[in-house]
Amino acid sequence: MSTEIRMEQAGALPPPQARPIPDRLRGLRRCVNLAWISVSLAGGLLWGQYLMRVLHPYAWAFVVTAIVAILSTLGVLLLGSWRVLAGPRRGAAVGLLIAGMMPAASVAGLIVAGAQQYRRGHIAPTVPFVLFAIAGSSLGEIEAANRYPSRMESPHLVMFYDDWVRDPRAELAEMERHVANLERMTRRPLRAKIHWVRGPLLGQHHLAIGGLALGSDATPVAAVDRHELAHAVIYQAMPPGLSPAMLLSEGWAEAQSRDAAALAERAIGMRELIRNLATQSEAQVKEILAGWQDAEGFGQLAGRARVVGPRSMSFLRELTSPFWFHRDRTINYAIGGAFADHVVRTYGADRFVALYLASRPGGFEGACQDVLRQPLDKVESDFWHDLERQTMRGLRPAR
Ligand SMILES: [Zn+2]
Repeated sequence: MSTEIRMEQAGALPPPQARPIPDRLRGLRRCVNLAWISVSLAGGLLWGQYLMRVLHPYAWAFVVTAIVAILSTLGVLLLGSWRVLAGPRRGAAVGLLIAGMMPAASVAGLIVAGAQQYRRGHIAPTVPFVLFAIAGSSLGEIEAANRYPSRMESPHLVMFYDDWVRDPRAELAEMERHVANLERMTRRPLRAKIHWVRGPLLGQHHLAIGGLALGSDATPVAAVDRHELAHAVIYQAMPPGLSPAMLLSEGWAEAQSRDAAALAERAIGMRELIRNLATQSEAQVKEILAGWQDAEGFGQLAGRARVVGPRSMSFLRELTSPFWFHRDRTINYAIGGAFADHVVRTYGADRFVALYLASRPGGFEGACQDVLRQPLDKVESDFWHDLERQTMRGLRPAR
C-alpha cells in the first residue's frame, strides 16, 4: 500500500527539467562580432572615401569605429584569456579568442606595411598605404582643429595657425593669390577649400594629402608653403586610383615654389653629377655616395648611365621607369622641378596637368606623344636645350 502511494505520488510529479546551462561564452562571442564589424566599417569607410576622392574625410566617424574596434578587441583579449584559463569549454574559447584577434592583427599588419612604405618614400596606391594615408589625414583634420587655436578663411583656403604668425591676413592673402593663380593656370576649379596648416600635424612636416596641406612653421610664408599648396591644388583634379609619376608630382610642386633660373641650374647640376658618377667604377661610386641621402637612387641612376652611356641616357625615361616612378626622392625633385616648369612654359599648365593625369607606370612615353604631340626623345632634347639656354643667360655678364 505504502509502496503504491509512493509510486502514485512520484507519478504525479512534473517530469524533471534539465536546468538551462548558462552560455558562459556569450559575452566573448559578442566582442568577437563587434571587433569584426567595427574593423570592417572603419576599413570600408577609409577605402570608400579614397574611391570617392573625399577631400576632408569624415574624421569622427573613423575615430568612433576605431574606438569601438579597440574596446571590443580588448574585450576579446580579456574575456577570451579568462575563459581559456577558467573554462568551461576551453577549446571553443581558444577558437573565439583567435577569431576575435584576427581583425586587430590584420590592422597591425596594414599599419606596419603602410608606415614602412611611407618611410621608404614609395608613393604608390597599395591597400596598406591608402588606408594608412586616409586614416592619417582623418586624424590630422581633428588635430588641426584642436592644436591650432586660430583659423581664417579666404575663397580657396582655410588657414589653421598659431600666435606666432606675424601677419595672418597678409600671409593668407598671399597664398590665396598663389592658389587662385594655379587654379586659373590649370583651368580646374577646386572642389573644396584647402585646409592649410601652419606647422606640423601628427609629428609630420611639409606634406599634402587630400584637402590638407602642412606648410612651414615660418612667418612670413616660405617656399614649402607654395610647394605643398601646389600639391593640394593638383590633387583635386586627380581621379580615384591615380598615383602620378613623382617626377611630375614633385616637379609640379617645385616648379610652383622656385624661380625658373634656380630650377634650371639645379637640374643641370644634377645631370652633370650623374654623368660624372657614371665615369667612375661601381666601387668608387659606392665610396663617394657613402652617407648620402638616397645613395641607392644616385647609385642606380649612375649605374644606368654607365650602361647606356652618360651622354646618351634619357633622364625622363629613367625617372619614369618602375624604379623611379613612385620614388619620392631628391633626383625627382631636382630634375622634375625644371621639367615641369619647362612643360608649363612651353605647352601651358593645362597641358602639363593633362600629361600628369595621363602618365601611368610604363606609359609615360605614350602620354608624351598623346598630350604633348612629341616623341619622348624630342621632348627631352628640347627640355635640356631650354635649360642650357637659361643657365647661359644667367651666366652672361650684366651690361
Ligand atoms: Zn612635395
